[in-house]
Amino acid sequence: MTARLLLGRPVADAIWGALEARTAEARARLGRAPRLGLVLGSDPAAQAYARSIGRAFDRHGLAAEQHAAPEAASSLRRLLERVSADPGVDGVLVLTPLPGGVSLVDVISAVDPAKDVDGQHPANLGRLLERRPGPVPATALGGLRLLEHYGVPLAGRRAVVVGRSPVVGLPLALLLLDANATVTVCHSRTSELAEEARRADVLGVAVGRPKLVDRRYVKEGAVVLDFGANADQAGDLVGDVDTDDVAQVAAAVTPARNGTGAVTTAVLAEQTVAAALAGGS
Ligand code: NAP
Repeated sequence: MTARLLLGRPVADAIWGALEARTAEARARLGRAPRLGLVLGSDPAAQAYARSIGRAFDRHGLAAEQHAAPEAASSLRRLLERVSADPGVDGVLVLTPLPGGVSLVDVISAVDPAKDVDGQHPANLGRLLERRPGPVPATALGGLRLLEHYGVPLAGRRAVVVGRSPVVGLPLALLLLDANATVTVCHSRTSELAEEARRADVLGVAVGRPKLVDRRYVKEGAVVLDFGANADQAGDLVGDVDTDDVAQVAAAVTPARNGTGAVTTAVLAEQTVAAALAGGS
Protein backbone atom coordinates (compact mmCIF):
# COMPACT_ATOMS: atom_id res chain seq x y z
CA MET A 1 0.00 0.00 0.00
CA THR A 2 1.22 3.50 -0.73
CA ALA A 3 -0.59 6.14 1.27
CA ARG A 4 -2.29 9.18 -0.13
CA LEU A 5 -0.37 12.33 0.79
CA LEU A 6 -2.67 14.82 2.51
CA LEU A 7 -1.21 18.16 1.46
CA GLY A 8 -1.78 21.22 3.61
CA ARG A 9 -1.66 23.89 0.93
CA PRO A 10 -5.03 23.10 -0.72
CA VAL A 11 -6.62 23.22 2.73
CA ALA A 12 -4.94 26.55 3.48
CA ASP A 13 -6.00 27.91 0.08
CA ALA A 14 -9.61 26.95 0.78
CA ILE A 15 -9.46 28.72 4.18
CA TRP A 16 -7.89 31.84 2.66
CA GLY A 17 -10.50 31.85 -0.10
CA ALA A 18 -13.37 31.58 2.35
CA LEU A 19 -11.83 34.39 4.41
CA GLU A 20 -11.65 36.96 1.61
CA ALA A 21 -15.09 38.49 2.15
CA ARG A 22 -14.67 38.73 5.92
CA THR A 23 -11.23 40.32 5.50
CA ALA A 24 -12.77 42.90 3.16
CA GLU A 25 -15.55 43.54 5.69
CA ALA A 26 -13.00 44.00 8.50
CA ARG A 27 -10.88 46.33 6.35
CA ALA A 28 -13.94 48.43 5.52
CA ARG A 29 -15.11 48.56 9.11
CA LEU A 30 -11.69 49.34 10.64
CA GLY A 31 -10.39 51.52 7.81
CA ARG A 32 -7.17 49.45 7.86
CA ALA A 33 -5.97 45.88 7.48
CA PRO A 34 -6.63 43.45 10.35
CA ARG A 35 -3.28 43.32 12.18
CA LEU A 36 -1.43 40.59 14.08
CA GLY A 37 1.23 41.50 16.66
CA LEU A 38 3.96 38.84 16.74
CA VAL A 39 6.12 38.69 19.87
CA LEU A 40 9.26 36.59 19.60
CA GLY A 41 12.90 36.18 20.58
CA SER A 42 15.96 35.59 18.43
CA ASP A 43 15.41 31.87 17.74
CA PRO A 44 16.08 31.46 13.98
CA ALA A 45 13.17 29.03 13.41
CA ALA A 46 10.73 31.41 15.17
CA GLN A 47 12.10 34.34 13.16
CA ALA A 48 11.67 32.42 9.89
CA TYR A 49 8.13 31.47 10.92
CA ALA A 50 7.31 35.10 11.78
CA ARG A 51 8.56 36.23 8.37
CA SER A 52 6.48 33.59 6.61
CA ILE A 53 3.37 34.67 8.54
CA GLY A 54 4.12 38.28 7.55
CA ARG A 55 4.38 37.36 3.86
CA ALA A 56 1.19 35.27 3.89
CA PHE A 57 -0.77 37.99 5.72
CA ASP A 58 0.51 40.64 3.32
CA ARG A 59 -0.53 38.55 0.29
CA HIS A 60 -4.06 38.27 1.63
CA GLY A 61 -4.72 41.84 2.73
CA LEU A 62 -3.82 41.43 6.40
CA ALA A 63 -0.91 42.94 8.31
CA ALA A 64 1.61 41.61 10.81
CA GLU A 65 4.13 43.46 12.96
CA GLN A 66 6.99 42.07 15.03
CA HIS A 67 7.99 42.90 18.61
CA ALA A 68 11.23 41.69 20.21
CA ALA A 69 10.56 39.74 23.40
CA PRO A 70 12.70 40.91 26.33
CA GLU A 71 14.49 38.33 28.52
CA ALA A 72 12.79 39.05 31.83
CA ALA A 73 9.31 37.57 32.25
CA SER A 74 8.07 40.77 33.95
CA SER A 75 9.19 42.96 31.02
CA LEU A 76 7.70 40.49 28.56
CA ARG A 77 4.37 40.60 30.38
CA ARG A 78 4.41 44.40 30.20
CA LEU A 79 5.13 44.24 26.46
CA LEU A 80 2.27 41.78 25.93
CA GLU A 81 -0.09 44.03 27.89
CA ARG A 82 0.98 47.01 25.78
CA VAL A 83 0.64 45.23 22.41
CA SER A 84 -2.71 43.77 23.51
CA ALA A 85 -4.01 47.20 24.52
CA ASP A 86 -3.05 48.77 21.16
CA PRO A 87 -6.33 49.44 19.31
CA GLY A 88 -4.42 49.05 16.03
CA VAL A 89 -3.58 45.42 16.85
CA ASP A 90 -6.36 42.82 16.57
CA GLY A 91 -4.49 39.65 17.44
CA VAL A 92 -1.39 38.74 19.44
CA LEU A 93 0.78 35.68 18.84
CA VAL A 94 3.72 34.74 21.06
CA LEU A 95 6.28 32.51 19.36
CA THR A 96 8.44 30.08 21.35
CA PRO A 97 11.13 29.50 22.45
CA LEU A 98 11.17 32.74 24.43
CA PRO A 99 14.42 34.37 25.53
CA GLY A 100 15.77 33.68 29.01
CA GLY A 101 13.99 30.31 29.10
CA VAL A 102 10.68 32.02 29.93
CA SER A 103 7.75 29.67 29.51
CA LEU A 104 4.72 30.69 27.45
CA VAL A 105 2.44 29.53 30.25
CA ASP A 106 4.02 32.10 32.60
CA VAL A 107 3.30 35.11 30.38
CA ILE A 108 0.31 34.31 28.16
CA SER A 109 -2.23 35.57 30.70
CA ALA A 110 -0.91 39.11 29.98
CA VAL A 111 -2.55 38.89 26.53
CA ASP A 112 -6.16 40.03 26.22
CA PRO A 113 -8.09 36.74 25.70
CA ALA A 114 -10.11 38.41 22.92
CA LYS A 115 -6.83 38.98 21.00
CA ASP A 116 -5.24 35.62 21.84
CA VAL A 117 -5.45 34.25 18.29
CA ASP A 118 -3.56 31.04 19.13
CA GLY A 119 -5.98 30.13 21.91
CA GLN A 120 -3.29 29.78 24.60
CA HIS A 121 -4.81 32.02 27.28
CA PRO A 122 -6.27 29.94 30.14
CA ALA A 123 -9.69 31.52 29.46
CA ASN A 124 -9.60 30.28 25.86
CA LEU A 125 -8.29 26.82 26.77
CA GLY A 126 -11.14 26.71 29.30
CA ARG A 127 -13.65 27.62 26.58
CA LEU A 128 -12.29 24.79 24.45
CA LEU A 129 -12.78 22.38 27.36
CA GLU A 130 -16.35 23.62 27.77
CA ARG A 131 -16.90 23.38 23.99
CA ARG A 132 -17.76 27.06 23.80
CA PRO A 133 -16.71 29.24 20.84
CA GLY A 134 -13.48 31.22 21.05
CA PRO A 135 -9.97 31.23 19.62
CA VAL A 136 -8.56 27.70 19.39
CA PRO A 137 -4.87 26.64 19.21
CA ALA A 138 -4.27 27.16 15.50
CA THR A 139 -2.10 24.14 14.72
CA ALA A 140 -4.54 21.74 16.35
CA LEU A 141 -7.54 23.33 14.63
CA GLY A 142 -5.61 23.22 11.35
CA GLY A 143 -5.25 19.45 11.81
CA LEU A 144 -9.03 19.13 12.19
CA ARG A 145 -9.59 21.32 9.13
CA LEU A 146 -7.27 19.13 7.15
CA LEU A 147 -9.16 15.97 8.13
CA GLU A 148 -12.48 17.65 7.26
CA HIS A 149 -11.13 18.88 3.92
CA TYR A 150 -10.11 15.37 2.87
CA GLY A 151 -13.35 13.84 4.15
CA VAL A 152 -11.78 11.70 6.88
CA PRO A 153 -14.63 10.44 9.09
CA LEU A 154 -14.13 10.90 12.83
CA ALA A 155 -17.42 10.10 14.58
CA GLY A 156 -17.14 6.75 16.30
CA ARG A 157 -13.55 6.23 15.08
CA ARG A 158 -10.61 5.57 17.35
CA ALA A 159 -8.12 8.47 17.49
CA VAL A 160 -4.75 8.42 19.22
CA VAL A 161 -2.79 11.62 19.86
CA VAL A 162 0.89 11.35 20.75
CA GLY A 163 1.90 14.49 22.71
CA ARG A 164 -0.01 16.43 25.36
CA SER A 165 1.24 20.01 25.09
CA PRO A 166 -1.36 22.80 25.41
CA VAL A 167 -0.20 24.07 22.01
CA VAL A 168 -0.87 20.98 19.88
CA GLY A 169 -1.50 17.58 21.49
CA LEU A 170 -4.10 18.41 24.16
CA PRO A 171 -6.24 20.77 22.05
CA LEU A 172 -6.08 18.29 19.17
CA ALA A 173 -7.38 15.59 21.50
CA LEU A 174 -10.23 17.88 22.64
CA LEU A 175 -11.16 18.78 19.07
CA LEU A 176 -11.18 15.12 18.02
CA LEU A 177 -13.34 14.34 21.05
CA ASP A 178 -15.68 17.15 20.03
CA ALA A 179 -15.87 15.52 16.59
CA ASN A 180 -17.09 12.36 18.39
CA ALA A 181 -13.95 10.28 17.98
CA THR A 182 -12.89 8.06 20.89
CA VAL A 183 -9.58 9.56 21.91
CA THR A 184 -6.47 8.23 23.65
CA VAL A 185 -3.65 10.64 24.54
CA CYS A 186 -0.08 9.30 24.77
CA HIS A 187 3.07 11.01 26.09
CA SER A 188 6.65 10.37 27.14
CA ARG A 189 5.59 8.09 30.01
CA THR A 190 3.23 5.94 27.94
CA SER A 191 4.32 2.33 28.06
CA GLU A 192 3.90 0.35 24.84
CA LEU A 193 3.53 3.51 22.73
CA ALA A 194 3.66 1.63 19.42
CA GLU A 195 0.91 -0.73 20.58
CA GLU A 196 -1.32 2.18 21.65
CA ALA A 197 -0.69 4.06 18.42
CA ARG A 198 -1.47 0.97 16.33
CA ARG A 199 -5.02 1.01 17.65
CA ALA A 200 -5.69 4.34 15.90
CA ASP A 201 -7.88 4.87 12.88
CA VAL A 202 -6.59 8.46 13.05
CA LEU A 203 -3.14 9.06 14.56
CA GLY A 204 -1.96 12.59 15.42
CA VAL A 205 1.72 12.99 16.31
CA ALA A 206 3.03 16.17 18.01
CA VAL A 207 6.13 15.19 19.89
CA GLY A 208 9.20 17.00 18.56
CA ARG A 209 11.25 13.82 17.95
CA PRO A 210 12.39 13.40 14.34
CA LYS A 211 10.85 10.32 12.69
CA LEU A 212 9.80 8.78 16.02
CA VAL A 213 6.79 7.15 14.38
CA ASP A 214 7.43 4.54 11.74
CA ARG A 215 5.26 1.76 10.33
CA ARG A 216 5.44 -0.23 13.57
CA TYR A 217 3.21 2.46 15.15
CA VAL A 218 0.59 2.50 12.41
CA LYS A 219 -2.39 0.26 11.73
CA GLU A 220 -3.00 -0.78 8.13
CA GLY A 221 -5.32 1.79 6.56
CA ALA A 222 -4.92 4.47 9.27
CA VAL A 223 -4.78 8.23 8.62
CA VAL A 224 -1.68 9.87 10.11
CA LEU A 225 -1.24 13.58 10.90
CA ASP A 226 2.35 14.68 11.48
CA PHE A 227 2.73 17.96 13.39
CA GLY A 228 6.46 17.61 13.99
CA ALA A 229 8.62 20.46 12.76
CA ASN A 230 12.21 19.47 13.51
CA ALA A 231 15.41 20.53 11.78
CA ASP A 232 17.88 17.83 10.74
CA GLN A 233 21.65 18.39 10.76
CA ALA A 234 21.48 20.11 7.37
CA GLY A 235 18.73 22.40 8.68
CA ASP A 236 16.03 20.69 6.61
CA LEU A 237 12.53 20.15 7.99
CA VAL A 238 11.88 16.66 9.39
CA GLY A 239 8.58 15.54 10.90
CA ASP A 240 7.90 13.32 13.88
CA VAL A 241 6.73 10.68 11.40
CA ASP A 242 8.91 8.68 9.02
CA THR A 243 6.61 9.48 6.09
CA ASP A 244 8.05 7.07 3.53
CA ASP A 245 7.98 4.14 5.93
CA VAL A 246 4.51 4.92 7.29
CA ALA A 247 3.19 5.35 3.74
CA GLN A 248 3.71 1.61 3.22
CA VAL A 249 0.87 0.81 5.64
CA ALA A 250 -1.24 3.96 6.16
CA ALA A 251 -4.17 4.98 3.96
CA ALA A 252 -3.08 8.62 4.16
CA VAL A 253 -0.37 10.71 5.79
CA THR A 254 0.57 14.39 5.94
CA PRO A 255 4.10 15.17 4.68
CA ALA A 256 6.52 17.12 6.90
CA ARG A 257 6.64 19.95 4.37
CA ASN A 258 3.31 21.18 2.96
CA GLY A 259 1.44 19.22 5.62
CA THR A 260 -0.18 20.40 8.85
CA GLY A 261 2.14 23.42 9.18
CA ALA A 262 0.84 24.88 5.93
CA VAL A 263 -2.65 25.16 7.43
CA THR A 264 -1.66 26.84 10.72
CA THR A 265 -1.05 30.31 9.26
CA ALA A 266 -4.42 30.34 7.47
CA VAL A 267 -6.18 29.43 10.73
CA LEU A 268 -4.27 32.20 12.53
CA ALA A 269 -5.49 34.60 9.85
CA GLU A 270 -9.07 33.41 10.32
CA GLN A 271 -8.85 34.01 14.06
CA THR A 272 -7.19 37.41 13.55
CA VAL A 273 -10.01 38.52 11.24
CA ALA A 274 -12.60 37.18 13.71
CA ALA A 275 -10.92 39.16 16.52
CA ALA A 276 -10.83 42.29 14.32
CA LEU A 277 -14.53 42.00 13.50
CA ALA A 278 -15.47 41.31 17.13
CA GLY A 279 -13.33 44.23 18.37
CA GLY A 280 -14.42 46.64 15.68
CA SER A 281 -18.16 46.08 16.13
P1 NAP B 1 6.25 19.97 23.50
O1 NAP B 1 5.59 21.06 24.26
O2 NAP B 1 7.71 19.71 23.71
O3 NAP B 1 5.45 18.63 23.81
C1 NAP B 1 5.90 17.40 23.33
C2 NAP B 1 4.98 16.31 23.79
O4 NAP B 1 5.48 15.08 23.27
C3 NAP B 1 4.90 16.16 25.30
O5 NAP B 1 3.58 15.90 25.69
C4 NAP B 1 5.81 14.97 25.59
O6 NAP B 1 5.39 14.17 26.67
C5 NAP B 1 5.63 14.15 24.33
N1 NAP B 1 6.81 13.31 24.06
C6 NAP B 1 8.10 13.69 24.04
N2 NAP B 1 8.91 12.64 23.75
C7 NAP B 1 8.08 11.58 23.60
C8 NAP B 1 8.29 10.22 23.28
N3 NAP B 1 9.54 9.73 23.07
N4 NAP B 1 7.23 9.40 23.20
C9 NAP B 1 5.98 9.88 23.42
N5 NAP B 1 5.71 11.17 23.70
C10 NAP B 1 6.75 12.00 23.79
O7 NAP B 1 6.09 20.17 21.93
P2 NAP B 1 4.89 20.87 21.09
O8 NAP B 1 4.95 22.34 21.23
O9 NAP B 1 3.61 20.16 21.34
O10 NAP B 1 5.39 20.53 19.63
C11 NAP B 1 5.42 19.20 19.15
C12 NAP B 1 5.94 19.20 17.73
O11 NAP B 1 5.04 19.94 16.92
C13 NAP B 1 7.30 19.88 17.55
O12 NAP B 1 8.03 19.23 16.53
C14 NAP B 1 6.93 21.29 17.12
O13 NAP B 1 7.98 21.90 16.37
C15 NAP B 1 5.74 20.99 16.27
N6 NAP B 1 4.81 22.12 16.11
C16 NAP B 1 4.28 22.28 14.87
C17 NAP B 1 3.41 23.29 14.63
C18 NAP B 1 2.82 23.42 13.26
O14 NAP B 1 2.31 24.47 12.88
N7 NAP B 1 2.84 22.31 12.49
C19 NAP B 1 3.06 24.18 15.66
C20 NAP B 1 3.56 23.97 16.93
C21 NAP B 1 4.44 22.93 17.14
P3 NAP B 1 5.40 14.71 28.21
O15 NAP B 1 4.19 15.58 28.32
O16 NAP B 1 5.32 13.46 28.99
O17 NAP B 1 6.69 15.47 28.37
